Amino acid sequence: MLEQTLTRIEQDMREAPDKGLVANYIPELAQVDPDQFAMSVCLADGQQISCGDSTTDFSLQSVSKAFTLAMALGRFGNGLWGRVGREPTSNAFNSVVDLELAGGRPPNPFVNAGAIVVTDALLAGRSPKETLAEIVQFVKAAIGDEEIYINHEMARSENITGHRNWSLAHFLKSADNLEHDCDLTLGTYFHQCAIEVNCQQLARAGRFLAGLSSDDDMIAKRHVRSINALMMTCGHYNGSGEFAYRVGFPGKSGVSGGILAIVPGIASIAVWAPGLNSFGNSMLGTIALEQLSHAMGWSVFETT
Ligand code: GLN
Repeated sequence: MLEQTLTRIEQDMREAPDKGLVANYIPELAQVDPDQFAMSVCLADGQQISCGDSTTDFSLQSVSKAFTLAMALGRFGNGLWGRVGREPTSNAFNSVVDLELAGGRPPNPFVNAGAIVVTDALLAGRSPKETLAEIVQFVKAAIGDEEIYINHEMARSENITGHRNWSLAHFLKSADNLEHDCDLTLGTYFHQCAIEVNCQQLARAGRFLAGLSSDDDMIAKRHVRSINALMMTCGHYNGSGEFAYRVGFPGKSGVSGGILAIVPGIASIAVWAPGLNSFGNSMLGTIALEQLSHAMGWSVFETT
């Protein structure tokens, strides 16, 4: 049933008249072929079913924020919330306005400012190189110890062109909410965004959030619950309400067109389609998840 559903969804997506637009503010992403689509689903019984370009690598971008949040909650627990909030925002993922209104405390860990603070927290007592190695190690462990790598060209191009992120980092610094120099924290953040995975790997990496992983070492269950709540309310930025309405389970998107979505206790799902909607979330990825959710009855809001 799931296999046929994925085949049908892939066909629909390949024929979709509007695939959205690839992100063009990061030069490396502007070059990605928008005619790619992949989906992969890991189930509780250990099965993994995939379709499309599921072994093609793409950069995690903001999907990495789910992993760094998991690491930071594991290390600092509720202490993290002194520096970053847990509320959705109606402003864009790279908005400066929210920061100014809240005196430098970002609204949630999934907008850029919030994720920069989380990365800054992870840098405590470590060098950027050690921190990055820990992030890569965490993602590798979640996948099941496969080789993954950082696309250094991607990180370099963001470092040069990411003026909005620089402005967010400087604002955080001026508000005393950045412990390290802007270039250290941002350098680490740009590299975590440039970690490359394929759809099959990403679906496996999400198993600990779906409660499917036998590896209880990843993170305490109480943190998994918190991360899923935040993915539901904030994981798609100012499009999170729309995503919850249409798809009905938690997800974290990235501007490369990847989405990691979690059906608690049932499935960890990765989808990748590079074209984005107006909120900066994968256009076809969202539609594909919506179709999958309806076909399988996977919305957490379903009563039957
Ligand atoms: N690296 C990207 C940025 O900071 C991540 C944003 C995203 O995926 N939405 O702009």
